[in-house]
Amino acid sequence: MIVTKAKPFDSILPFAEGRKNIFILGCNVCAAKMKTGGEPEILKLVGQLEEAGHPITGWVLPTAACSIRSFDHLISKNEKIKDADCILVMACGSGTSIVSSLTDIFVTGTNETVSLGGCSGFDLSERLCVFCGECNIGDFSGICPNARCPKAQMNGPCGGSKNGKCEVSRDSECVWYLIEKKMDSIHSIPKLHDIQMPKNHKV
Ligand code: SF4
Ligand code: SF4
Repeated sequence: MIVTKAKPFDSILPFAEGRKNIFILGCNVCAAKMKTGGEPEILKLVGQLEEAGHPITGWVLPTAACSIRSFDHLISKNEKIKDADCILVMACGSGTSIVSSLTDIFVTGTNETVSLGGCSGFDLSERLCVFCGECNIGDFSGICPNARCPKAQMNGPCGGSKNGKCEVSRDSECVWYLIEKKMDSIHSIPKLHDIQMPKNHKV
């Protein structure tokens, strides 16, 4: 089970600013067990955001956020997601990454992903999130360079990225190519100019 803990509400609020249609997506497996993404936590976040003046377009609680394989699947659960300009994922970093990969809508997570908790039911997990416990995946609309770049480049690509491919393995896409494509599609390239500080690996 992936171990997560909820981010403070104040750190989620900036992602809601300026959004007209916020949609919330939970996870009824690990995050529900951790009380960071089940129905009670979703309803609490809906209430907090609405109280802060951010009406929620809709929400959905899939079985496991990291097992979603198509956007159509989410639409079939709640078609309001089509109107969203922001999806808040109450799951682990992998679940957030999976949702981000299915859509051009801005995506961020509401949790810190702390550890693998012993074992994972999904092979994808370790490739999409390395459980750093300081999740800033929202700064990249749900694509984690810390986990997906072999050099963990946090402030742009290294000099080896070529034609969208990674120099470490030309079979793989450079994660910074994916990030730039996504941020461009949501008109947020200037956000990438923010300097990302080093993560604290002591804990
Ligand atoms: S920043 Fe990346 S590695 Fe860290 S918790 Fe978020 S998704 Fe996982
Ligand atoms: S090419 Fe891209 S993914 Fe590969 S090491 Fe360089 S920045 Fe990271």
